[in-house]
Amino acid sequence: MNSITVKAYAKVNLGLDVIRKRPDGYHDVSMIMQTVNLHDTINIKKTKFESVTIRSNLYYLPTDQRNLVYQAVELYREFHPIRCGLSITINKRIPVAAGLAGGSADAAATLKGLNQLFQTGLSQEELMKLGIRLGADVPYCLMMGTALSEGIGEILRPLDPMPNCSILLVKPDISVSTKYVYDNLRLNEDIKHPDIPAMMEALKEKNLHKLSFLMGNILESVTIRDYPIIEDIKSNMKEKGALTALMSGSGPTVFGIFDLQQKAEKAYRYFKTSDYGKQVILTKPY
Ligand code: ATP
Repeated sequence: MNSITVKAYAKVNLGLDVIRKRPDGYHDVSMIMQTVNLHDTINIKKTKFESVTIRSNLYYLPTDQRNLVYQAVELYREFHPIRCGLSITINKRIPVAAGLAGGSADAAATLKGLNQLFQTGLSQEELMKLGIRLGADVPYCLMMGTALSEGIGEILRPLDPMPNCSILLVKPDISVSTKYVYDNLRLNEDIKHPDIPAMMEALKEKNLHKLSFLMGNILESVTIRDYPIIEDIKSNMKEKGALTALMSGSGPTVFGIFDLQQKAEKAYRYFKTSDYGKQVILTKPY
């Protein structure tokens, strides 16, 4: 095998709760993750040189050691020496720095791709153990689907799949730093925690309406205060027929859940021509 192409799928957080800040500075979370049918494509090709080169379709994405794909190659190499060079092309479709885990998904897909390309036979679990060293969401990105994520993201449990629906993603043109959001989260205030166990029940019952009603993201308490546009998008999305609308991860992407494709398409056309942001994507659970 001389080259391989892998897909890296985005996620949304149907529920995101923060339990506590740990002494090491990390936060213990309880999140319900859902893969969506939106992916980057990564092509990894062996070359006769020794270097690793990365190219992407986005001029603003770093292609050096700051890229998570590069870091995934370095990590894999520590354990499985590679005796050739690599030429890697990333075709990014997942919005960057959006709360959709695009970088983590690329890192996960790269580990998977290298494992296949060099036939190292690492199990999913072994890949996940490697992945956590690249980022808290990487093990989940290897696992995919509907899952409960706890600890800092390394304790994962598959859940009943999300009922079929349409998911509309709208990313406003603002940048939100994940570190800033966590640093400014005040857990001692009168803060509303999403009911994650009740959401798991709703998934078991395959009840989309109940699930939507329960969805919540504790990080909105920080981002909406600073960026009211997130609340505007949420209320507009609901006005356009979404069962609910929520920020994903630490934002700023807002996603809306629609039970009918037709309603979702109408809302998609509305947001595409609005001033809320250039990145508007209609997708589904994957
Ligand atoms: P999360 O939901 O896990 O917080 P995110 O969607 O908010 O992730 P990413 O798209 O992963 O954010 O990007 C975060 C940062 O990582 C960006 O500043 C970007 O430059 C950097 N980065 C490094 N490698 C990649 C990559 N392959 N794809 C996207 N971003 C990358």
